[in-house]
Amino acid sequence: MTTWQDNEAHDMMRTFAPTQALLVRGDGAYVEDGDGTRYLDFLGGIAVNVLGHAHPVLVEAVSEQAKALIHVSNYFATPPQLELAARLKRLACTGDAGRVFFANSGTEANEAAFKLARLNRGDDGRRTRILSMKDSFHGRTMGALALTGKPAMHSDFEPLPGGVEYIDTTIEALEAAMDEQVAAVIVEPIKGEAGVYEVPDGFLERARALTSEVGALLIIDEIQTGVGRTGDWFAYQATGITPDAVTVAKGIAGGVPMGAIITFGATSELFHPGQHGTTFGGNPLATAAANAVLGEIESAGLLENARQRGEQLREVIAGLGSPLITGVRGRGLLLGIALAKPVAPAIHAAALSAGLIVNAPNAETIRLAPPLIIGDAEIADFEKRFRVALDAVS
Ligand SMILES: *Cc1c(COP(=O)(O)O)cnc(C)c1O
Repeated sequence: MTTWQDNEAHDMMRTFAPTQALLVRGDGAYVEDGDGTRYLDFLGGIAVNVLGHAHPVLVEAVSEQAKALIHVSNYFATPPQLELAARLKRLACTGDAGRVFFANSGTEANEAAFKLARLNRGDDGRRTRILSMKDSFHGRTMGALALTGKPAMHSDFEPLPGGVEYIDTTIEALEAAMDEQVAAVIVEPIKGEAGVYEVPDGFLERARALTSEVGALLIIDEIQTGVGRTGDWFAYQATGITPDAVTVAKGIAGGVPMGAIITFGATSELFHPGQHGTTFGGNPLATAAANAVLGEIESAGLLENARQRGEQLREVIAGLGSPLITGVRGRGLLLGIALAKPVAPAIHAAALSAGLIVNAPNAETIRLAPPLIIGDAEIADFEKRFRVALDAVS
């Protein structure tokens, strides 16, 4: 008999490793495979399913919008699109001068950011350098790949767009690299793909001061950290700085593909008609989904929940008393469990067998990015299943 694994191997392009299960439905923080096995989803589609699965508010918004209009083109505006743009300006506190461009993914949001950096070259063309962080992740298309500070991901695809340099994520490295030729600095407040590493204290504030001095853009990649994940709408808001551009995607529409770039001040004036575009970006289906997600985060108090449940999870993880666990990094509901040994892949596999979905961004870290709706019951279930996984590996 042909299995789904056979079909996957036969028909799907080999960009991903063989997958772990064939999922057919979900509800809340749980997903279910074709045999009726239920998994507690503490990865949330990699920080995407902020309202969990099949949330009635999102289901209703998408269903209603599908009946009205799914797509027009960017020759036309639609009410959900304009509502979302105004909402994002409010949540990011851009003031009047803020503007929003909609895309379909994180990598596309960062492509727009890259083009803004090129447009910020200055009257004399002096600003040609872009500073990015070592071990950062900004996406898979050629521009976003060039921004990504992982040389191993570059080598098969060179030449990449030029001008990007990768620095250590330290204030000293930033100070040493900054000069009048820098067009932009791009940084993740917490490097999620690298293993949930926060920038050092004071880094974003110093980056803001140094970029302002030379007229460089400060671009914050909030694709993983944004939309309430860390307990603030955007992680940089914990610092009080005002960036020039913020990129968002992942959780913004709860799983409907969407990305966006939000600009502040004069950066909003850099693009002129014809310099950038998209067919699907900002279509009424995706923007209606995003309005529903962001509205629900506000009305259900999910920022506060992300903060509280994050603290609660840290206590539960510490309470497991496992010699394999050396600490927990991250903020809110983006957590990296630090391990004493490179056993993250083994724990990840054991967790799946115990009906728990997490992932291993590197060999010594387990990442959690559960839906923002989790409560006591999900955390108790996590504790039970994660303990089984740890015991299986110890
Ligand atoms: C996931 C991610 C991206 C890429 O987003 P896609 O939607 O996969 O293109 C970019 N930056 C960060 C920080 C991410 O976590």
